[in-house]
Amino acid sequence: MGKGAAQGEGAVRSGREGSGKRTAGRWIQGDETAEALAETPAKRSVRHAFPPAPFPAPPRAPPPPDRGARPTLARARVAAGRPRAAMHAVWPHSRAVKVVAITGGTHGNEVNGAALARHLLRHPELAARGSFETKVLFSNLGAIERNVRYIDEDLNRCFYKKDLADRSRQSAEARRARELDAALGPKGSAAPVADLIIDLHNTTANCGVALMMPPQDELCHSIGAHLCAHDPSVRVVNFTAGKEDYPMLPTIARHGMTFEVGAVAWGCLDGALFQQSLTLLMHALDYVEAHNRAVLAGDSSAWDKRSIPVYDAVRTVDYPRYDENVSSCPGVQALIAATIHPAIRGKDFVPLRRGDPVFLTMEGETIGFDAGAAEEETETCYAFFIDEAAYYEKGIAFMIAHQSKQTVRVVSEVTVSEQSAKRPKYG
Ligand SMILES: [Zn+2]
Repeated sequence: MGKGAAQGEGAVRSGREGSGKRTAGRWIQGDETAEALAETPAKRSVRHAFPPAPFPAPPRAPPPPDRGARPTLARARVAAGRPRAAMHAVWPHSRAVKVVAITGGTHGNEVNGAALARHLLRHPELAARGSFETKVLFSNLGAIERNVRYIDEDLNRCFYKKDLADRSRQSAEARRARELDAALGPKGSAAPVADLIIDLHNTTANCGVALMMPPQDELCHSIGAHLCAHDPSVRVVNFTAGKEDYPMLPTIARHGMTFEVGAVAWGCLDGALFQQSLTLLMHALDYVEAHNRAVLAGDSSAWDKRSIPVYDAVRTVDYPRYDENVSSCPGVQALIAATIHPAIRGKDFVPLRRGDPVFLTMEGETIGFDAGAAEEETETCYAFFIDEAAYYEKGIAFMIAHQSKQTVRVVSEVTVSEQSAKRPKYG
């Protein structure tokens, strides 16, 4: 366990995640995750309003690519007269994707994501593919206009089923969440409008490209595996397992992922990450196209099994905090007694061992990493979302993931579209 400096006016507790602890006037339970924590910063009052965002017309799909140029493996086999496999044999890949939604500006000051959506709306041919419709839209127009994360509350924590069903919730984001759910969901329905949502974010943490998704979402893992093959810097991160529901926007569709890139400061654009994201988006859409063609061909052998490394989010770690509000400084940092240690700042996904420096108190004392007892024996811990600016209010200094291998079924032959072929691998 890390030791806290008790100098100065207030005692300092370690930032250890564990049994319930009091942080900034509320209690955090040890098994709470970022998404669960996100419910508590209550800013429910309706102080501002913004008009419902129009949903731009979907880009017009170009004609299907030249079928003679680079046939997919599945199509080639069908053409050769092989019998089609029973559809159940390709479960869960038995369903074609009809609608993909690409959303930007779910957090209004994450302008890389909003700029990507704007670019796709300006150049609809980029997101268009032959076998499905692509919708591109802005999630939180009011927040984008004000260059703030949200107006009343975090939109990306408004998508629990119970909250969507609660008509008494009248914050700007609660109302927008219902609009989005009506436009792209409804969440949990047998036939949501969107089969896949790719929600574009950026983070102040140095996460690189991190694709965050529910652990059981096989289509998103297939896309993730495909993107990892193109760009080994891409990481696949599983939301905390064992949750009945998640509050993020992508979960209202049948499949969905949060597309995080960092480090990018609030309100800023990062050219390299913008270009890298756009390239990866093109390849993701190519994968969906190949998925559809393989499904329609009904050939289960179009998928190969592939083992990919995944990071499994397991818990959050808060900053060490003073026991009492000894500072006259207002704001969410008022009780924070230590900063992220320079040894790990900007080093997301670097393995952490017990005692490694993670915090530096205001008095200059180092606090070591407090691995759980079981973790120390069996698991290597990886910190990510280190010093994400939006998480100060959520009581999160960083998150902890364990790494594992996940077997994913991936369409083995994916035709590179004209749009992707023109893209540089990196910005
Ligand atoms: Zn975000």
